[in-house]
Amino acid sequence: MIKAFSGFEVVFLEIINSYFYLKFKENNMYRTHNCGELRLADKGEEVILCGWVQRSRDLGGMTFVDLHDRYGITQLVFNMETNSALCERARKLGREFVIRAEGRVEERSNKNLKLLTGEIEIVVNEFSILNKSEIPPFTIEDDTDGGEELRMKYRYLDLRRNCIRNNIILRHKVALEVRRYMDEAGFIEVETPVLIKSTPEGARDFVVPSRMQPRTFYALPQSPQTLKQLLMVAGFDRYFQIVRCFRDEDLRADRQPEFTQIDCEMSFVERDDILYTFEGLAKNLFRHIMGIEFKDPFIKLAYNDAIVNYGTDKPDLRFGMKISDLTEIVKNHGFTLFDTSEFVGAICAKRCSGYTRKQIDGLTEFVKKPQIGARGLIYVKYEIDGNFKSTVDKFYSQEDIKRWADRLKAMPGDLILILAGERKTTLSALSELRLEMGERLGLRKKSEFVPLWVVDFPLLEWDDETKRFYAMHHPFTSPKPEDIHLLEEDPGRVMANAYDLVINGVEIGGGSVRIHDANIQKLMFKVLGFTDKEADEQFGFLLNAFKYGAPPHGGIAFGFDRWVAMFGGQDSIRDFIAFPKNNSGRDVMLDTPSTISERQLDELRLKFREEELL
Ligand code: ASP
Repeated sequence: MIKAFSGFEVVFLEIINSYFYLKFKENNMYRTHNCGELRLADKGEEVILCGWVQRSRDLGGMTFVDLHDRYGITQLVFNMETNSALCERARKLGREFVIRAEGRVEERSNKNLKLLTGEIEIVVNEFSILNKSEIPPFTIEDDTDGGEELRMKYRYLDLRRNCIRNNIILRHKVALEVRRYMDEAGFIEVETPVLIKSTPEGARDFVVPSRMQPRTFYALPQSPQTLKQLLMVAGFDRYFQIVRCFRDEDLRADRQPEFTQIDCEMSFVERDDILYTFEGLAKNLFRHIMGIEFKDPFIKLAYNDAIVNYGTDKPDLRFGMKISDLTEIVKNHGFTLFDTSEFVGAICAKRCSGYTRKQIDGLTEFVKKPQIGARGLIYVKYEIDGNFKSTVDKFYSQEDIKRWADRLKAMPGDLILILAGERKTTLSALSELRLEMGERLGLRKKSEFVPLWVVDFPLLEWDDETKRFYAMHHPFTSPKPEDIHLLEEDPGRVMANAYDLVINGVEIGGGSVRIHDANIQKLMFKVLGFTDKEADEQFGFLLNAFKYGAPPHGGIAFGFDRWVAMFGGQDSIRDFIAFPKNNSGRDVMLDTPSTISERQLDELRLKFREEELL
């Protein structure tokens, strides 16, 4: 049975089944059943249903109305011959009117086997309109005519559509499953405050002005990072929280200014204890939500190997197509681009030597997009007859190119794609090109999942613009113990005790073993460019706490919205959040961010700068 459906369908059917017969059966005047509940076995029963009119059709002497609610759709039928007055009234029902209908369950002559209620209909003997509806701005069906902006403006109507509602139900199911697993593993869910202190954690903070203490601000947490560490100092031992986080960043399809994490922390553990615990969570979710078993431990890939082989620290391992470094073997043939590039790398697309000019041009356009950043694309076609045809034939003999092909393990019929330039950007462009080719060749199957741990990250990243180091994860991540001595002499070489869970090219979670020694934490702040005074002002609370017996600890946080979207088979997290924001961070339904009154501004003692008002 599981094989016949996609993971999402299995979940969906399960959800439907578990909610058909409400555990606490309603016993009120509105309804005896919901719109997804009645079956042939109920034939002859007198029932009352409530719901929204999806559609009505007049056929001969009959009027059919599809009544929908969260649970399903049931067909109502009105007969002109037996009750013409009622039928006339039914004909006037508009889309999305809310009605209450009483009638008898009958067997349908024209059965609809796509619907679980498709074998029956309700022959209505009375109905009342509970509320009228204006004509909705888009059709409330899976295949809607509503564009994104319109759907968001009327999100409450969008949420009435099965496909969106099912996403939200899936989210609920995943949250329940997370809580069950974490509880069984001894974790305690603790709420942490939403109004906290602004501390540099990577992204920009959202801030909230304080009325009671003018000129001061709270910040909304980018994550409860320091608070969960304090809970470890407090001896909670195992903490988790499904928690809202806020980051004032530029948005993409998989980013929202407010998003939800499964945030976790444990004491008296080393890296592998943490990975084991959360691999368990991941496997458990895949088992219960998707019906997929992972028997083997997840692959562990060092950050450096991920970058060298895939050009990214979040590789999609559903397919191979690794990057090969050609920098040295292509040099000294008079081809300036290769001679002067810091890095020349290539991937091999199997059985693509037949790519047309147009297809290659398309790929060239792709790599030249500003967000990808390559200057151009060089290709080699390994023809079926064993010859090479390339854009650089002038500079390289067939034997030269054969050496590249061997390095790439290319075979006749394959297409080699080469990019050259600065190392970091070229590797990242190759990563994008690899994903694009994987997509074109159908190698990124939605039903397949390849999780892996990326480990051994560098602790710090050098930023050329500001001429300083930044923490690659965050400032609380512990260096590998064997590298601590390098922190002052050669910070760039220090490796971190950090890890990410990556699934199908998406970073689902990340965390680290933390620093629990106040002196090392102080040193870390120093390396990050904080003076003692600044470190104390911003993180005094943490440094202080570390003086009172901080246990060794570490943890992880997962992007809950992303995880649910992945289970739901979509890239964008937006439709897995009931009321999301658009790409400019607006809630178009609430029409916010919006201005506040002069009085509110006065109370907060806030004033716009003159130039902002112009
Ligand atoms: N607080 C971190 C984050 O939000 C995750 C962690 O290290 O536990 O990325």
